[in-house]
Amino acid sequence: MQISRGSGPLSTAMAGLATGQIPWGKGHHEAFAKRFDHVAAIGIVGEDLPEEHNRVTLDPKLVDSDGIPAPKITYKYGENSLKMVQHGLARGEEVMRAAGAYEVSSGGPLRPTGWHLLGTARMGSDPQRSVVNHWGRSHDVKNLFIIDGSIFVTSGGVNPASTIQACALYIADSIKKNLSNLFE
Ligand SMILES: Cc1cc2nc3c(=O)[nH]c(=O)nc-3n(C[C@H](O)[C@H](O)[C@H](O)COP(=O)(O)OP(=O)(O)OC[C@H]3O[C@@H](n4cnc5c(N)ncnc54)[C@H](O)[C@@H]3O)c2cc1C
Repeated sequence: MQISRGSGPLSTAMAGLATGQIPWGKGHHEAFAKRFDHVAAIGIVGEDLPEEHNRVTLDPKLVDSDGIPAPKITYKYGENSLKMVQHGLARGEEVMRAAGAYEVSSGGPLRPTGWHLLGTARMGSDPQRSVVNHWGRSHDVKNLFIIDGSIFVTSGGVNPASTIQACALYIADSIKKNLSNLFE
């Protein structure tokens, strides 16, 4: 659960207008004062498991200015992910009510929050089911190391940047330790 405060005055007014909770004109100040500085949000973030129907392939038609095919991302929510979101939303509502909230609204999954693209070159010991070994070296190309979010084996349950950085340090250390037989 990621808990955050409500937004600033302008976005509170604009969002209130968009959702019909804060009218423009008559009654605006009263409705605005009721909401502004009295709102909190809980974001539910969950571990989206690797599922084979979700994949990145080369687009058969779309190419860049050099004629290189664009990546095509195929993604749909898995059953487990949807259940996790529903579970999280219900628990979030409980937290809000326990904290004294008198008006609670919830919904999701939210399409625009899919920012964490992970696991496209995942780590593993089996070359048939993974791209890099346990210290980031490609199974197929021995002098290729992949050090970023693509080596994750799942999406993880939280924001990934710190783990990506930890993996970078770990792989750099492993390269150093294996210098004498790096490409064997
Ligand atoms: C709006 C937004 C908010 C986010 N907020 C958070 C947050 O609060 N906390 C958190 O932990 N994570 C957050 N993330 C996720 C996090 O930023 C990413 O998961 C992380 O930066 C990914 O790191 P990376 O090294 O795998 O890839 P990137 O940081 O995307 O690095 C890839 C690099 O490769 C370069 N590149 C691509 N193609 C080529 C090429 N052909 N040749 C050479 N270079 C190339 C790109 O220019 C880029 O510099 C957020 C992401 C977004 C978009």
